[in-house]
Amino acid sequence: MRFRPPTRRDALKLGLAATLAPEAARAVSNPNVLVVGAGIAGLAAARALADAGRAVVVLEASGRIGGRIHTDRSLGLPVELGAGWIHGPDGNPISDLAGRADLQTFLTDDNSLEVYRADGTAVRDADVVAGEARLARLAAAVDDGVDNDIAMSEAIRRFGNGELEDPLMRWMLSAYLEFLTGGSVHDISAAFWDEDDAFAGTDVILPDGYERILPGLARELDIRFGEMVQSIAYGPEGVSVTTENGTFEAKHLVCTLPLGVLKAGRIAFDPPLPSEYQRSIQALGMGQATKLALRFDAPFWPQDVQYFGVVTELMGRWPYFMNTMTYGDAPILMGVSLGAYAPIADTMSEDDATADMMDVLRGVFGNTIPEPTGVLKTAWSNDPLALGAYSFAKLGATPDDFNRFAEPIGPLHFAGEHTSFDYHGNVHCAYLSGLRAAAAILA
Ligand SMILES: Cc1cc2nc3c(=O)[nH]c(=O)nc-3n(C[C@H](O)[C@H](O)[C@H](O)COP(=O)(O)OP(=O)(O)OC[C@H]3O[C@@H](n4cnc5c(N)ncnc54)[C@H](O)[C@@H]3O)c2cc1C
Repeated sequence: MRFRPPTRRDALKLGLAATLAPEAARAVSNPNVLVVGAGIAGLAAARALADAGRAVVVLEASGRIGGRIHTDRSLGLPVELGAGWIHGPDGNPISDLAGRADLQTFLTDDNSLEVYRADGTAVRDADVVAGEARLARLAAAVDDGVDNDIAMSEAIRRFGNGELEDPLMRWMLSAYLEFLTGGSVHDISAAFWDEDDAFAGTDVILPDGYERILPGLARELDIRFGEMVQSIAYGPEGVSVTTENGTFEAKHLVCTLPLGVLKAGRIAFDPPLPSEYQRSIQALGMGQATKLALRFDAPFWPQDVQYFGVVTELMGRWPYFMNTMTYGDAPILMGVSLGAYAPIADTMSEDDATADMMDVLRGVFGNTIPEPTGVLKTAWSNDPLALGAYSFAKLGATPDDFNRFAEPIGPLHFAGEHTSFDYHGNVHCAYLSGLRAAAAILA
C-alpha cells in the first residue's frame, strides 16, 4: 500500500495510468486493497482480506471504529447510540461475534410492555393485544391488496379500516413499523416493506456494549483514522482514493460509505458511477431515528417493565422507551423519535429535546418527576459521516436497488447495510456484505 502527499493528486487519474510515473504504475499493480470506512462492513471485509494474506489499509474519517455501532459509557452504563439489538440471534453471524468476544447476552421480552395514553391513563393489556392483532390483519390486507407500489399510508387508507385515525394504531404503526424500517409511513413502500429475509429468535442486547464485538475484527489492521475520503477514481488498473491528507492507490477498493453519504453526492467518483447505480442511490430510503437517553437519580417508573409506550398525539414523538433497569443498575430511560418526527428531533438541541421528552414523560408519570442528571442525544441525520440511521425500502425502490451494490464495478466493490435487500438496515447485513466483498476480491 502506498501513500502519497496531496501535491501529486492531479497525476492520479487512473484513466491516465499509462502516463503515470513508474513508481505510481507499480503501486496500482500491487494486489492490495483499500477499504473506505471502519464500520462493521469495512472491518469485516478488511479482517477477511488480511486473514487471507492481502495487504489492506482502512481509511476512516472519524477517530474511532464502529460507525453506527457506538457505545457511550458516560452515563455510568453502556448506552447504545446506534445499533442496540441483535435482531434474530439464531444463526445470526453477530451472535457468533458476540460469542467469540465472550459477551453476555440479555434476552429481551417484547411482552414486557406498558402503553400509556398521553394523559397518563394506561392502555389495557387486552387492548394492546387486540391492537396487535388488528395490525397483523392490516399487514396481511396490504400484502394482498397492493399490486403496483404505493406508500404505506396510502395502502392503509385503501386496504385498512381507519387505522391512521385511531391513536393506538397510529402509535403501533410508529413504534413497530416506523422503528423497524426507519422510514415514515408516508415514505415506506407498501409492496416491499416486509419482503426481506430475517433471522429467527428473540432479539438480544449486549449489556457490556455492542462495540465489544469489534476489537476482534479490528485487531492488527492498518486503520488510518482522520482520513476523510473526498474522491474515488477507478479503472482497469485499480483505484485511487483522495482524502484531505493525500492520495492512496490500490488494486481493489471496498467502499462502505453509508447510503446517506452516497445520496448527498459529497464523494466524487471518477468516472461517475453508472447511471443505474446513481438511480438506486437516490431511490433507496435512508431512514431516521433519534435516540435520547436520560439518566435520573432514581427510577420513578416500574423497574421491571422493559418497554414503555406513549400514545403521543404527534406520530413518532417519543413513542417508545427502553428501561435499562431491566438489565443494568443505572436508572436510564432511552427514548426514541421516529418517522416524520425524527428529523425534527434530530435538529433539536440537547436541552430542547430533553424538554420535549420530559413533557411526554410528565404526561405519564406526573409533573413532579425530577429533571435528569445526565443526557445523551443522537442526531444521525445531521452526522456528516452517516446522514441518516439505516436504509429502508422507500416507495419507488425495489429489491434490485439494494442488490445492485453486490455487483462490483471493476475494482470497486460496495459493502454496507444498504447493499443487500435481505437483512438491509441491520448490523448483520453490513457484516455479511463485508465478507461478500472480500470473497469477491479473493476470487
Ligand atoms: C439509531 C440506530 C439504531 C440502530 N439499531 C440497530 C439495531 O438495533 N440492530 C441492528 O442490527 N442494526 C441497527 N442499526 C443499524 C446498524 O447500526 C447499521 O446497519 C450498521 O452499523 C451499519 O454498518 P456499516 O458498516 O454499513 O456502516 P457504518 O457503521 O456507518 O460505517 C461506515 C463508516 O464510514 C465512515 N465514513 C463516512 N464517510 C466517510 C468518508 N468520507 N471518508 C472516510 N470514512 C467515512 C464512517 O465514519 C463509518 O465509520 C441502527 C442504526 C442506528 C443509527
